[in-house]
Amino acid sequence: MSTQSIIDTRRYQMFPKLEPEEIKRVRRFGEVRSYDMGEALAKVGEVGHGLTVVLAGTVNITQHDESGRREPIVTHGPGSFMGELAQLAGRPALVDAYAQEPVVAVIIPPERLRALLVAEAELGERIMRALILRRVGLLETGAGGPVIVGRAENGDVIRLEGFLSRNGHPHQRLNPDTDTDTEAKALVERFQVDPGQLPIVLCPGGQLLRNPSETELARCIGLVGPIDPDRVYDVAVVGAGPAGLATAVYAASEGLSVLVLDCRAFGGQAGASARIENYLGFPTGITGMALMARAYNQAQKFGVEMAIPDEVMGLQARDNPDEDRFVLRLSGEERVSARSVVIASGARYRRLEVDTWKRLRRRACTIGHRLWRGSCARGRKWLWWAAAILQAKRWFI
Ligand SMILES: Cc1cc2nc3c(=O)[nH]c(=O)nc-3n(C[C@H](O)[C@H](O)[C@H](O)COP(=O)(O)OP(=O)(O)OC[C@H]3O[C@@H](n4cnc5c(N)ncnc54)[C@H](O)[C@@H]3O)c2cc1C
Repeated sequence: MSTQSIIDTRRYQMFPKLEPEEIKRVRRFGEVRSYDMGEALAKVGEVGHGLTVVLAGTVNITQHDESGRREPIVTHGPGSFMGELAQLAGRPALVDAYAQEPVVAVIIPPERLRALLVAEAELGERIMRALILRRVGLLETGAGGPVIVGRAENGDVIRLEGFLSRNGHPHQRLNPDTDTDTEAKALVERFQVDPGQLPIVLCPGGQLLRNPSETELARCIGLVGPIDPDRVYDVAVVGAGPAGLATAVYAASEGLSVLVLDCRAFGGQAGASARIENYLGFPTGITGMALMARAYNQAQKFGVEMAIPDEVMGLQARDNPDEDRFVLRLSGEERVSARSVVIASGARYRRLEVDTWKRLRRRACTIGHRLWRGSCARGRKWLWWAAAILQAKRWFI
């Protein structure tokens, strides 16, 4: 098995250099700024200014390891650019960037970066690929994200790690029981955490959370922010599965303002699929997560705003016909106003409420698998029921 990291194998795509003529083209999307030697261009946990194209000087990019020590990633010089997917969505930085010497750079804020990616097809593709690969590199090492302290087999650790992985966010885990993780022990002692209260989570901004919910964690690391109650979106989409993300991409690419809400993670059921073989255009198949991550990034490229995790609890129809909006009620008492709402909340499969269900299951009769393949001969008469279940959709209000 190869132990090479993505930074070894794809370095030239991760850190491309722009030609002088290309720099001239990107300049119109940003503003030129100067930095003194030692000045920070980005800090872990803080929302940065955007994509930074270096014109003169050098910038050191470092990541934090699980003990908080800084490790070098790369040094950007004239012609190279600094940023990763966080800059596309205006989220907190996952790396530190300091000027090694006086620096002059073009700063392209998130909304202008999205305009650049759409307007400059070939250059935009190269920049977008670099941003994605850099995020993949950070995911490999877990750098820049929160540190979870707890045992790998603990249910809440699994829950929090699963949530971060499904949302493509780097993280690290320290085990307070192993001799090698002395930092974990030190953290547990310093914050006086009883072993029964584990896991704890240290956010990049320095906050400590004790066994947080997914929503608490997402807010702490800047994955989800407050929603502007006065803003009226053209489209609000409930659900970030394939249907919701496809809706969002098409709507935003037509210039509509779009907000996507999902109570768990982007990708929906498809994100859990080990391999999708029947999706048009992928003859060799693709993992559900890879397909959905592409859709998620594509949506953000067109300026779609994401509120994940955020659960929609109710939909209020406009009672005044002159008022051109619907209102979505969210779990945290927040409200979203939109001119149109698309509900793409997926299907929930219900069990048959029949007395013989347990007996049938013992005979290896399962819905939607053996039944469809005909290996459960007796189950065929249940085919109609199974089809009905697979169609059963339940709206949640
Ligand atoms: C393991 C697995 C493998 C699969 N493999 C394949 C395959 O190979 N080929 C294939 O064609 N299909 C496959 N499928 C089926 C496919 O994934 C689904 O048909 C598809 O995901 C449905 O898309 P959707 O967007 O309609 O709904 P979903 O993917 O179910 O997404 C709905 C989203 O809405 C969110 N949501 C629900 N209620 C709320 C609420 N109140 N507020 C906010 N958000 C909400 C959910 O969290 C979810 O993310 C597979 C499914 C699974 C589970």
